[in-house]
Amino acid sequence: MATLSEIRAALALAHPTLTGRAEGLDVILPDEERATLLDEWAQAAYDKQQAEAAAAALADAEAALAAESATRDDLARQQKRIDDEVESFKAKRQGFDQKLYGGTVSNPRELQDLQDEIDALGRRITQLEDEELEVMEQVEPVEAKVAELTATVDQRRAVLADAETRLTVAEAELAAEVEAEEAVRAEAATPVPAELLAEYERLRAGRGGIGVAKLTGTQCGGCHLGLSAVEVAAFRKLPDGEYGHCEECGRILVP
Ligand SMILES: [Zn+2]
Repeated sequence: MATLSEIRAALALAHPTLTGRAEGLDVILPDEERATLLDEWAQAAYDKQQAEAAAAALADAEAALAAESATRDDLARQQKRIDDEVESFKAKRQGFDQKLYGGTVSNPRELQDLQDEIDALGRRITQLEDEELEVMEQVEPVEAKVAELTATVDQRRAVLADAETRLTVAEAELAAEVEAEEAVRAEAATPVPAELLAEYERLRAGRGGIGVAKLTGTQCGGCHLGLSAVEVAAFRKLPDGEYGHCEECGRILVP
């Protein structure tokens, strides 16, 4: 799992204009605001990742719990089946007992047969009770595992709820930040002539988010290439309020 700083680094690459590389060249959205946005962005991305990891961990625990519960239920059914069988044999044996001691049968051969049946049933019941003990021994560790997994599921549910809360907060903060930026931007854009604004937008979209560059010496702050002496001289002579373009990258150039 990526750490917060790794996500920040990845975002910095994905959104180079948000890292402060533009050094105040983009007049409409100051870099400081962008840095804050980047931070918020990274936090929200990190929180989203945490929430997704928590959800996956919870799903794993729930699946394990379901499997273990199914094993437990299966063992309970086995136990019930053996119980029922024992009960039916005991009822049968009681019937033979009553017949044996009830005085209605006097034939020694028949009496012996009854005794044999009673003995056979007794052996079968003992056998079944042994089987039941074995099942009960298997139930114990499964019950313990079910209890353990139930606790894990509860704990992971709490972790997920916590991660979701943090994500909601981070997203709300980001949304508020973006909204504030949009207001700042709208205010900054108001005095800009529509034609210039349209050009700026077009340049900005096509040039990595930077539409305006500052000329420092003979270097364009947008593409960092040097301009020719003729170009620079012409630029310096521009009357107030006029603007030029970098001959290399085409960005609007300001002094
Ligand atoms: Zn340039």
